[in-house]
Amino acid sequence: MRTESHTQLIEQSLDTLWRPFTQHALGQKPMVIVEGHGYTVVDSEGNEYLDAMAGLWCVNVGYGQEQLIAAGARQLRTLPYSPATRPAPPSLELALRLAEVLPGDLNHIQFLNSGSEAVETALKVARQYARQQFPGQNRYKIIARYRGYHGWSGGALGATGQTARKAAFEPLAPGYIHVRPPDLFQLFGGMTPQQASDQLLRELEEVIEFEGPETIAAFIGEPIIGGGGVIVPPEDYWPRVRDLLRQHGILLIFDEVITGFGRTGKMFGAEQWNVVPDIMTMAKGISSAYIPLAATAVTDAVFDAFKGAPGENKQFNQVSTYGGHPVACAVGLANLAVIQEQGLVENAARMGERLLGGLRELIAEHPLAGDARGKGLICGVELVKPGTREPLEPGKVNQVMAAAQQRGVLLGKNSSTVPRLETVLTIAPPLIIDQPGIDRLIDALDAALGAVEGRA
Ligand code: PLP
Repeated sequence: MRTESHTQLIEQSLDTLWRPFTQHALGQKPMVIVEGHGYTVVDSEGNEYLDAMAGLWCVNVGYGQEQLIAAGARQLRTLPYSPATRPAPPSLELALRLAEVLPGDLNHIQFLNSGSEAVETALKVARQYARQQFPGQNRYKIIARYRGYHGWSGGALGATGQTARKAAFEPLAPGYIHVRPPDLFQLFGGMTPQQASDQLLRELEEVIEFEGPETIAAFIGEPIIGGGGVIVPPEDYWPRVRDLLRQHGILLIFDEVITGFGRTGKMFGAEQWNVVPDIMTMAKGISSAYIPLAATAVTDAVFDAFKGAPGENKQFNQVSTYGGHPVACAVGLANLAVIQEQGLVENAARMGERLLGGLRELIAEHPLAGDARGKGLICGVELVKPGTREPLEPGKVNQVMAAAQQRGVLLGKNSSTVPRLETVLTIAPPLIIDQPGIDRLIDALDAALGAVEGRA
């Protein structure tokens, strides 16, 4: 499509397409992306950008991977659809391939279409598991973390700990309890990581005691909080949380919608801490977002709790029309093959180190950059008022993003989460990024910070 026709299309659809997070009263035009190549995208005006967010933390294999395209086209011709109750071969094969790469005995997989649905499924599985495993108890509560994000649908939003995403729709379903996240920069400044995790574990133990373990089904968390501001926990946090939950019969759900499929420099975030959750959710990188696909995996023990005699009604009664879609699963298989064949997990680890190294140098040079953190290719830079840990004014954060965009790099930000704390620039490029790409990203952010600080 030619540029003039894009301009017309954008103007005509301005209020017809109701866009997320957009105040339509302002009449602002969206940036419209028309093409993607590798780790870059092109907008409707012909500008090329390094996509430092891989779309929305999801185009892990980068744009234009022919294997994914061919696999989708082939499956569309062979069989475009079959319901999950009569599963097509790609869903059988993808379940097997995933069971091979998932940590521990996460050997049983359901397919969904979005991260939110994968989380809804995980929450339902946890509640039914608890009822079947602990007859006579009413374990329905879910513990989650402030600043965490788990999706837009009812249950997933209940678990989300971001007031800006929730307030307009509350009250949501009861039964969600939030605890503090391992945010070492804002919440535990001055403490060592060890002291912070001691404190967090004490708090979690108190919450479990006061709520009553026999009322709690599960704890859900992102191994690294992503959209909430890239919050990386202390090394001992997850192993200790895991042990504490186990002592009380509470399931651990890892929401790996962002951290899965190589993002952190391991295939799954869980592997960073050698912690195997009872339930894991996946989406985004599972198909590199070439097509909607998500999954929820459970361990042998969780799966076994759903076995019973006919009539006991212990099976999991849920079907999604598009869950296990043959075309999506065929693309998912090709995506996994590309991640493995092209060594993208290893590349994410290597490039991630260079990215974080570069970001830490920026912290040393720029008074607006207060903290740089991350693992692999999921990084955040928290912007502050110079010389403090106080969050920078929102207008200035937007200026930094705009200045980076002018220099050809699209960054992300933890927008519409917890209003005072929305000053974290987020960086999660496609896992195919190379050294020139990392240099380009760092140079653009360096120049953007300098421009807003009034140095350029
Ligand atoms: N869980 C996490 C950790 C996410 O980051 C997201 C989306 O960003 C979701 C769940 C929801 O996924 P979706 O937008 O595909 O429903």
